[in-house]
Amino acid sequence: MKKPIYLDYASSTPVDFEVVESMEPYLEKYFGNPSCSHLFGIETKNPMEHARKQVAELLGCQPDEIVFTGGVTESNNHAIKGTAFAYQNRGKHIISTTIEHPSITRCCKFLELFGFTTTYIPVDKYGVVDVKQLEKSITDQTILVSVMHVNNQIGTIQPLDEISRITRKYGIILHSDATQSVGKVALNVKMPEIDIVSTSGHKSYAPKGVGALYIRNGVQIENLIHGSKQEKGRRAGTENVQGIVGLGKAYEIAGRDWEKNVSNMKEMKELLYKELKRNFKEIHLNGHLEKSSPDILNISFKGMTSGELYNKMKDFVAVTPDTSYVLDAINLSEEWKKCAIRFSVGKRTTKNEIIEAVSIIKKILDSAS
Ligand code: PMP
Repeated sequence: MKKPIYLDYASSTPVDFEVVESMEPYLEKYFGNPSCSHLFGIETKNPMEHARKQVAELLGCQPDEIVFTGGVTESNNHAIKGTAFAYQNRGKHIISTTIEHPSITRCCKFLELFGFTTTYIPVDKYGVVDVKQLEKSITDQTILVSVMHVNNQIGTIQPLDEISRITRKYGIILHSDATQSVGKVALNVKMPEIDIVSTSGHKSYAPKGVGALYIRNGVQIENLIHGSKQEKGRRAGTENVQGIVGLGKAYEIAGRDWEKNVSNMKEMKELLYKELKRNFKEIHLNGHLEKSSPDILNISFKGMTSGELYNKMKDFVAVTPDTSYVLDAINLSEEWKKCAIRFSVGKRTTKNEIIEAVSIIKKILDSAS
């Protein structure tokens, strides 16, 4: 059976061939524990440190500001809980937004057990956070602001530069979940100045089960995983060497091929939108066409719920039906909310895939009318 056309790169990406190649020696040939000082340990420690440089280079920070994790959910847990517990003597108030991933909001919810409270700042109809409201919500108890860089459902980019000016002014830690940005929307963590940033491997052509956490030098947060002294005592447990090497390589490639990849994604997203508009009289774009990442296009259709359309499409085109809280947060009408689909293109998505996907959707929707 022919595999469906893949338009779900915001869920996960294939591992790049060059990344696979970079990882191979660390699955078999080089197996030492990077904490050991003998040759076998050095053989895995050095490439890991090289990967740290590759990640730092892309994010614009120092290598020693990067901690490798088991993925972005862990990075986010470490950032939110680690900051809360480290700064609780200063205050117990957190500010976040109504469109964060559950790996942020559920941490905030968990922290309520320890007396922390969170204010969730609303977004406008495009999904952009209300910066004025964010500033107004700051109290003398506020210790942390956590705002994602790119929203995973509608692709909207948040004004981190403006938010960073506010957090600097009040001396509050700023964290950002940048899972969806790597290789798509540039983020230099020093401009704007962000204190903590979470990133992922498998959304950016590296393997699953590995991620990174940037912690600005001088910012001390509590550990999430306790044990031995790996990662300079910041994350215990023998490192996932092959995954880390792959993450480093993938981030190097993201920087190296940036223009080529971003321009392909942009072109494919624009083509998808144009073809959808040409084929369907009534569709609704959820989010903003320009103030958004080059890969994510969230569209509501008429005539079928997203669940129904998804079920009819999924053997031919792989996407994500969107029934998420993000659509509530942007105040989408009930009519459009029930029929939203998130498309996300990749760096190797082709025109033919887009044209074929749209014609499949057209056949499905035409047969229902
Ligand atoms: N944050 C964002 C913005 C995401 O898009 C995702 C994945 N959808 C996550 C966090 C969690 O990723 P993972 O399950 O790979 O840890």
